Amino acid sequence: MQEIHPVGGIVDEGRLIADTLLVKQYLDRAVQPDAPSARERAEYRGAIMDLLERRNAMIVAHYYVDADLQELAEESGGFVGDSLEMARFGRDCAADVLIVAGVRFMGETAKILSPDKIVLMPTLEATCSLDVACPVDEFSRFCDAHPDHAVVVYANTSAAVKARADWVVTSSIAVDVVDHLAAEGRPVLWAPDRHLGAYIERVTGAEMLLWDAACIVHEEFKARGLQDLIQVYPDAAVLAHPESPYGVLELADFVGSTTQIIKAAKEFPNRRFIVATDQGIFRKLQMEAPAKEFIVAPTAGNGAECRSCASCPWMGLNSLPDMLESLKNGSNEVLVDKQLSRQAMVPLRRMLDFAANSRS
Ligand code: SF4
Repeated sequence: MQEIHPVGGIVDEGRLIADTLLVKQYLDRAVQPDAPSARERAEYRGAIMDLLERRNAMIVAHYYVDADLQELAEESGGFVGDSLEMARFGRDCAADVLIVAGVRFMGETAKILSPDKIVLMPTLEATCSLDVACPVDEFSRFCDAHPDHAVVVYANTSAAVKARADWVVTSSIAVDVVDHLAAEGRPVLWAPDRHLGAYIERVTGAEMLLWDAACIVHEEFKARGLQDLIQVYPDAAVLAHPESPYGVLELADFVGSTTQIIKAAKEFPNRRFIVATDQGIFRKLQMEAPAKEFIVAPTAGNGAECRSCASCPWMGLNSLPDMLESLKNGSNEVLVDKQLSRQAMVPLRRMLDFAANSRS
């Protein structure tokens, strides 16, 4: 059965149930790695450092992965950032090998932008609920049904979905790109995150059709619990990622991408913050604003069942032992079909050029 989504997209209940089951199957497979002891960690780190040098390899890591991997990326001259910054760094650095600590679409994007580099990942099992819930065949049918719309997809999608799009955007640049399209009078078809899509629609006033998927981490944040926490800490500013539900964004003092949240934490005069995004970001927040206090936004309100507790289970699959294994044996290499890669490169390059011109 189909019904019109209140924000302008289409909800297909059968598909939503199928997506939920699919995400659950992935999560059931995603056995979180054991935490190594301090001695083991030191050994892994030493061995990885050695291989990075021997293979002229760089670690490109997301803010949400384990703190050990983020530290190692920084100490070895690699990079930690959001997905737009990761894409740019991977493309521009002089390494022969990129080892991407994040989720699958980040590895694919790195390969598309750097076809001559070897792109490895600690695990290829690390996917994303948004990617899972946007299968290319179904998405293509949705696009075909609305040929007058500019197709804008979030970076959290497969290479095949990107190849079908006019634009790829990350959360740091999505509002600017849709604003630009709205100024040209073009209606937008957006996929896959419905909360981010609805947020962009509200901010820009653009005419948008929304795909109906959500991030299992951000969707867990609860407005009711957040209201209670604000009562406890009335001096705290609320920083929220736009993948969070509407009620949470309504209560936020600042809404932005991970990098924008870190910047806001430094610039806001508050000494205390409630943060609605993956807890992996707390390491960087604390580094950049050491005198400030950060509290994770509540994830388990009335009747909620917390599947993620503000910690992405797929990002959590990245581990030191798997990174070492991948660098040692070249396992988990990310490969993207050449034709698909060329097609996906068009909207990706459009995003990077737009970002370069707008300095996002
Ligand atoms: S935090 Fe959400 S959007 Fe990011 S990788 Fe995990 S499931 Fe996907």
